[in-house]
Amino acid sequence: MAYGLWLRAIFSHPSPQPGNLPHVTPILPKRHQLGLPLDQLILDQPPSAEAIEMDVLFVGAGPAGLAGAIELARLAKKDQEQGGGLPDLNIGVLEKAGALGEHSLSGAVVNPRAFRELFPELSDGDFPFKDPVKRESVYLLTAGKSVRIPTPPTMHNQGFYTASLCEIVRWLGAKAEELGVNVFTGFPAGALLVDGSTVKGRRSRWYATARSSLVMTIRPGLVNSVESESERLSPIQLNSG
Ligand SMILES: Cc1cc2nc3c(=O)[nH]c(=O)nc-3n(C[C@H](O)[C@H](O)[C@H](O)COP(=O)(O)OP(=O)(O)OC[C@H]3O[C@@H](n4cnc5c(N)ncnc54)[C@H](O)[C@@H]3O)c2cc1C
Repeated sequence: MAYGLWLRAIFSHPSPQPGNLPHVTPILPKRHQLGLPLDQLILDQPPSAEAIEMDVLFVGAGPAGLAGAIELARLAKKDQEQGGGLPDLNIGVLEKAGALGEHSLSGAVVNPRAFRELFPELSDGDFPFKDPVKRESVYLLTAGKSVRIPTPPTMHNQGFYTASLCEIVRWLGAKAEELGVNVFTGFPAGALLVDGSTVKGRRSRWYATARSSLVMTIRPGLVNSVESESERLSPIQLNSG
């Protein structure tokens, strides 16, 4: 159905009556949604002199950020071993959760392909998986009963493993740290620091209650910096973000 027709179908839907479908919140087209508060997210501010330098900073210690940091650390190491001339890279991963995996709360069925590619030296038994998928069934649920249907082609999980995403993230975090990656938990990235059109860094918002906050800055050439702001912020300011 064309987009316009689809919208008209939603808005012209009769008011819900008892026994009818529950109320559906209309989906607002993007042009009617509030804009991003860019003045809060992009700050035209220079890095501080107290910054701790890093070369590359990943925001978010989910599977993607950690896998990226691991791969980058390995590539840098390989380049050095082959005499490529790359200096030691200071790689950071910024995570808003208080501890790795705390914001990754899901059981999962995992395709092992990415793990095999990222850790070719390991076997499936080394990965943080539970059990291989042995059988699968898909059911259509109605108000009163369930009907088994053939598994749609995109939902086949044969060859995959059950796992806990939280455990996967912790395991990847440990692997990243073994490679020298700095993982900063409890620090949400709050804003980009820019100079004109150049991103210079990131500033974290205060998130938990008993940790210092961080300012991350990026210099040209992928150099990031981290500084502690805890000395300058009172506990009340810290808690109010
Ligand atoms: C209910 C549910 C079930 C799922 N089941 C499966 C499954 O069975 N199999 C499967 O393969 N996939 C599944 N997925 C998808 C899978 O979880 C995602 O594809 C995967 O987690 C994406 O990884 P990511 O690293 O890109 O993002 P995320 O896992 O979302 O990680 C992002 C991280 O960034 C952090 N973060 C966010 N904003 C900031 C910030 N401003 N500053 C600092 N840190 C920040 C978050 O706390 C989080 O730790 C499921 C997802 C959901 C929601």
